[in-house]
Parts: sequence; C-alpha cells; structure tokens
Amino acid sequence: MDMDNHLSTEMKKKILIVDDNPINLRILADYLEAFEYRVLVARDGRSGIEKAQYAQPDIILLDVMMPDIDGFETCRFLKADETTRAIPVIFMTALSETESKVEGFEAGAVDYVTKPLQQREVLARIRTHLQLRELTENLEQLVKQRTNELETAYRHLSRLDKAKSDFISIMSHELRTPLAVIDGYTQLLQDNTAVTSDEEAQFLVGNILTGTQRMLRTMNDIFDVTRIDNDFLRPYREPLVMQDVLDEVYIKVTPALQKRKLRLTRIGIESLPRIQADKVLLPKLFYHLIVNAIKYTPDGGQIRVVGQFRELSDLPAPIVEILVEDNGIGIEPQHLELIFEKFYQTGQVNFHSSGTSTFKGGGPGLGLAIARGIVQGHGGRIWAESEGYDEAAYPGSRFFVWLPVDSPSG
Ligand code: ADP
Repeated sequence: MDMDNHLSTEMKKKILIVDDNPINLRILADYLEAFEYRVLVARDGRSGIEKAQYAQPDIILLDVMMPDIDGFETCRFLKADETTRAIPVIFMTALSETESKVEGFEAGAVDYVTKPLQQREVLARIRTHLQLRELTENLEQLVKQRTNELETAYRHLSRLDKAKSDFISIMSHELRTPLAVIDGYTQLLQDNTAVTSDEEAQFLVGNILTGTQRMLRTMNDIFDVTRIDNDFLRPYREPLVMQDVLDEVYIKVTPALQKRKLRLTRIGIESLPRIQADKVLLPKLFYHLIVNAIKYTPDGGQIRVVGQFRELSDLPAPIVEILVEDNGIGIEPQHLELIFEKFYQTGQVNFHSSGTSTFKGGGPGLGLAIARGIVQGHGGRIWAESEGYDEAAYPGSRFFVWLPVDSPSG
C-alpha cells in the first residue's frame, strides 16, 4: 500500500462508474479508491458518455438499469464513438438472466458483474481487464513499430533495387556500344586479305569473334531483362506468320543442331493463323526456348516444336499454342516455376559454359526470364512441364507458350 500512496494522480488508472444509485456509487468508489485507482462517477448514461469522452478513463463500470438511456444504449454509443471505442466496459447487472448478459456483450461490453456486488470480484475483474487492455495496447504499439520498420526497410530495398537495375541498364548500354564496335571491326578484319591468307591469323581472329559475340549476346540479354523489369518491353504488333518466325530461329540454331547431332521437327506450324505479335521479340522468345532444348538434351536427341490453334471455353479469345519439347535431362518439379526467375539456375548444369550449345552448359540464367517477359508482354502464358530430372532416363521437358491470336486490346 505504501507504494500505491506514492503514485501520482497522473499515473493512477482511471475508472469511470456510471450508476443512478448514489449509495451504490459511493460504496464502490470508496472501495476502489482505497486501491491504486482514481475514480470518476456519473449518475446517468448521458453524463457518463460526456465524462468518458473528456476524461478518457481506462475502464468503465456501467449500470444496466438506468432511467432515460439505459446501460446497453450507453454502451452502444461509447462503442460507436471513435474517442471512446477502445475503453473496456464492464456491466453491473441485477438481472442474472442470460438475455441481458448476451445483450451486454452484443452492445460491446467485455464482461459483467452481478448485483449485489462482491467487491473483491469487481476488483479482480477490473484488474484483469486493465491488464488485458495494457497488453493489447503494447501489442498494437509493437505491431505499429514493426510495420514502420518493415515499411522503412521496404522503401530502402526498393531504392537499392532501383539503383541496381539502373546500374545494370547503364552498364549494359555503355558496354554494348564499344563491344559492337569491336565486333564490327573484327568482322572486317576476318574478311581482310591479310587474314584470309594467313591460317593462324584466321584462327586468332575467329576466336576473338566468338568471344565478342558471346559477350554481345549476354549484354543484349541483360538489356532485355532490364527492359522487362522496368516495364519498357512493349511489343509492336503486326500480323506474323509463325513459320517465318521459326525459320529465322532455325537459321541461327542450325550449326548447334548439327554439332550436337540433334533433330528438330516442326509439326502443325504451317497451318497456324497469323498472329498479332512483335517480329523482333517473337524470334527471341523461341530462340531462348530452342537453345535451352539444345543445351539440355544429349547428343542425338530430338526436339519437337508443335503448333496448335485453340479456342478454349475458359479463355476470352482464341490462342495459338506452341510447344517446345525435348527428350533431355528434364527438370525437377520444384524448379518448374523458379527457372523463369532471372539469374536462376537449377544447379543441374555445368557452370558457365563458353558455348551456346554445349550439353548442360549453363548461361547466366536470363533466357527464360526474357521468354516469360516477352510472352507476358503479349498477354500470353508460358509454363514448363517435366516428369523430373534424370540423366539416365532422359524424361525431357515441355515448354508451353500460349499467345493470343489478336492483340488483347482488339
Ligand atoms: P541458362 O540456360 O542461361 O542457365 P535459362 O533462364 O535459359 O538460363 O534457364 C534456367 C534454367 O532452367 C537452366 O539453368 C536449366 O537448369 C533449366 N532449363 C531450361 N530449359 C531447360 C530444358 N529444356 N531442359 C532442362 N532444363 C532446362
């Protein structure tokens, strides 16, 4: 008790008692004041509400039976008011029927005590609810603080991500330009008579060219990924014949197919309708898928590109489906989604091979991110299916591409 006497008025918890019976009011107030509480009183609902709004008590003891507006009505009002909503209300009821208890809880009370009051019970309930409120407040405070921290961290990360993406974008641009110059001059050099007449010079220049072209390809891929990340990859749509698109890819991959003794068959492509798509982006999309099929299929394997026109009931418009299928090493189910993330590799490949066609020769992990960006830019879908990864049975992989025949905007 000594300690309690030293509590300053501000530190004491405030209890508001609302009761029309002055004797009840006095007895209860005296009892509670003997503990560490500051007691405020009101004789009817209306002044109870006013006091609650202005004095902001920590808890309210509310009599049910009062003239004018009764306890339930008062409680509903307190709960509807922003400034008093959070203050816990305990009903004091002479009626022990379930009816009034239920109505009290429905009005927003946290508890009730029955009259005649057991003072120690009242005290125990008050303590419990004050403690609960304090815990809730602390918790809310903590949640608020954590949310703030998370928001700050998120803003920080977004800034870093933007800086990183800007850096990659600037670097790829800055490096691409001089690299294209080197590549151009090396090609000129390759055709120069001084080189064509000298076997060793041919060999050296040829190797320089392989290196610069690989670098150029990577820089171009990085450039594409940053465009996708920044939402700058906007397809320019015009009517395209799928066969032309695949012919363009075929020319590029033929040396790799021959080197790896792989057979590429096309099925149903010639009968596909023209689709509204970007004639630069679409060959890129299938180039990445077919190069992957080449890289992850052992020598002598088969790659099939199957086209199909489809009108599906759950799709708003007709689509063209292109399936790129191989009988290579396959993909673990848990990787089927993740491989479309940039820089993601399954770890089932030789790290960083120098060629575009070496068996299991992993690249920087950009191909499928670009493929997905291109498909999504066209309002389509892309996904992979495979029975799993197996370097003995070669279950193969299937990459499905759905592209709308007409541009989604009409
Ligand atoms: P990269 O080939 O440069 O590593 P990609 O984004 O093209 O990057 O592919 C990501 C990963 O997906 C590859 O590292 C490989 O593990 C897996 N993958 C892609 N295509 C195939 C395929 N046809 N068969 C098996 N695995 C594949």
